[in-house]
Amino acid sequence: MRETAMNGWLKIAGLGPGDASLVTPEASAALAEATDVVGYGPYVERVPPRPGLTRHGSDNREEIRRAEQALRMTAEGRRVVVVSSGDPGVFAMGAAVFEALEAGEPAWRALDIQVLPGISAMLAASARLGAPLGHDFCCINLSDNLKPWALIEKRLRLAAEADFAMAFYNPRSRARPAGFARALRVLREACGPGRPIVFARAIATPEEAVRVTTLGEAEPEMADMRTLVMVGSSLTRRIAREEGEWVYTPRSASGAGS
Ligand code: SAH
Repeated sequence: MRETAMNGWLKIAGLGPGDASLVTPEASAALAEATDVVGYGPYVERVPPRPGLTRHGSDNREEIRRAEQALRMTAEGRRVVVVSSGDPGVFAMGAAVFEALEAGEPAWRALDIQVLPGISAMLAASARLGAPLGHDFCCINLSDNLKPWALIEKRLRLAAEADFAMAFYNPRSRARPAGFARALRVLREACGPGRPIVFARAIATPEEAVRVTTLGEAEPEMADMRTLVMVGSSLTRRIAREEGEWVYTPRSASGAGS
């Protein structure tokens, strides 16, 4: 029994933005050897069933309980993969597992745990557009589930002042439809109406849709929970072409920005 327990491992993996071709070979190999997959229901369903693999899908708000379950199964000697979309370290299960590890059983600290990187939504979206994050950028989660709105607004203002390009995760949900409208108002005020904004929806899935416009023309309804939103810095450029356009941020900046 002890020997078996020693053989357990936990891999915290990202499944990329959607398409199977964007799952890393390392994550696929871990899934091929796993006895258990743990995660939010829709992500767990992206892992095809096979004999010997138990899939544990759970609700969106169960992160800590799910992390504890994964650690417990690992301690029992199982080979567990915790899955997130994109990269597991970007607003996902990675931090939840370490939070559970820090607060949990001391013996868990000896477990064989590895984090496997994945292609985060901002990287997949950025690749579709060209290189909107080609120079300094920051990345903000617009959900106020786990932090107060005042902090989000402060970060938006300071990021605009620092003239970062910005990537926004979790822009808008049915549970909190007003927040994104407020975020757009703050950004319009701080960056001006001509600043490019990109709505990259369901990238690398059959429902993929990309829209480029300006803060002056942007409507809150252009984003939902499947959208990654990017706002350019003062230097971000748009290159028109027959179908769609490219967006990029040059590699050099001369002065104080906007
Ligand atoms: N760990 C994930 C992010 C989870 S937060 C990652 O690294 O990508 C969930 C948010 O990610 C969504 O609200 C959306 O803003 C973004 N997102 C995830 N997949 C996406 C996709 N295929 N296209 C566009 N945005 C996506």
